[in-house]
Amino acid sequence: MRSQDLTTTRRPCRNPLVSAPIVRLTVLRQANRGSGCLSRNPVVMIVCPLISGSSGNATYVESGDARILVDCGGAGAQIENALRAIDVDPSTLTCMLVTHSHDDHIRGLGVMSRRYRLPIFASVGTWDEIIKRDKIGHVDAKNIRVFQSAHVGDVLDFGSIAASFFSTPHDAYDSVGYVLSDGKKRFGMATDFGHVTPGIRSSLLGCDVVLLEANYDVDMLWKGPYPYPLKVRIAGDNGHLSNVDAGDFAVELVKSGTQTVFLGHLSEHNNTQQIAYRTVESAILGAGVALRQDCMVYMTRRYEPSRLIKL
Ligand SMILES: [Zn+2]
Ligand SMILES: [Zn+2]
Repeated sequence: MRSQDLTTTRRPCRNPLVSAPIVRLTVLRQANRGSGCLSRNPVVMIVCPLISGSSGNATYVESGDARILVDCGGAGAQIENALRAIDVDPSTLTCMLVTHSHDDHIRGLGVMSRRYRLPIFASVGTWDEIIKRDKIGHVDAKNIRVFQSAHVGDVLDFGSIAASFFSTPHDAYDSVGYVLSDGKKRFGMATDFGHVTPGIRSSLLGCDVVLLEANYDVDMLWKGPYPYPLKVRIAGDNGHLSNVDAGDFAVELVKSGTQTVFLGHLSEHNNTQQIAYRTVESAILGAGVALRQDCMVYMTRRYEPSRLIKL
């Protein structure tokens, strides 16, 4: 892999907690590794949630020479198998982006970075948490790329794909969501957030495809077996998004032009695919939107790749 520093952050980071050197935002250029990617001429953008749920999360995004994993929350072999299941050779990946430091988003991060010499992009606070918790093993310093989440408007440039980021209200330090674009189409992803903030709204409205959290059914959560403090945390402003809130935001998205909504990061204990889908479906239908005509809603799968979208 050849990498070139072509763009710079606005100012150097002075955060003394940072365990890794701040690097400048970097344009990654990947030498042609031949086949093993999905896009062919004409170049299209490809999105496929590989695994999704409170048990683990990873999403594949490809356009041209950029083949990106957003989060890597499964074992290395699980991620590799999921990629091969959609005919992607893991050795053709170009980098990984991380939303936050919880296990279900970073479990395979170290393994995949070491095995394929993959750069990891994360916010300063996220990377600091990952290092403090020492959960992913050693990562080569040259593969650690951190950015300041407060620098809204900065762009991570990966050649055929550019990624912008936005802060998310979650109980993990410095968590973010991403919007990835090939210049024509935009894919936004936001999971692990307790409520829709103005920043989330302005980032995701207008995206062509959105992976949106529908974490829990309100009744199942409050009548379920979790200890009360955990229920309060999940339902709190910095917890997770309920099916009802996902439905309300899905309506906003569809009205802004979003054509495809993936519902993801479902709780294993406080939700079902059927309940999540029906809750969001009824919100969309209730708003007068013609489902399957104006937009498609797809459920993600917990342990295997979901529908692959070509934009
Ligand atoms: Zn999560
Ligand atoms: Zn989380």
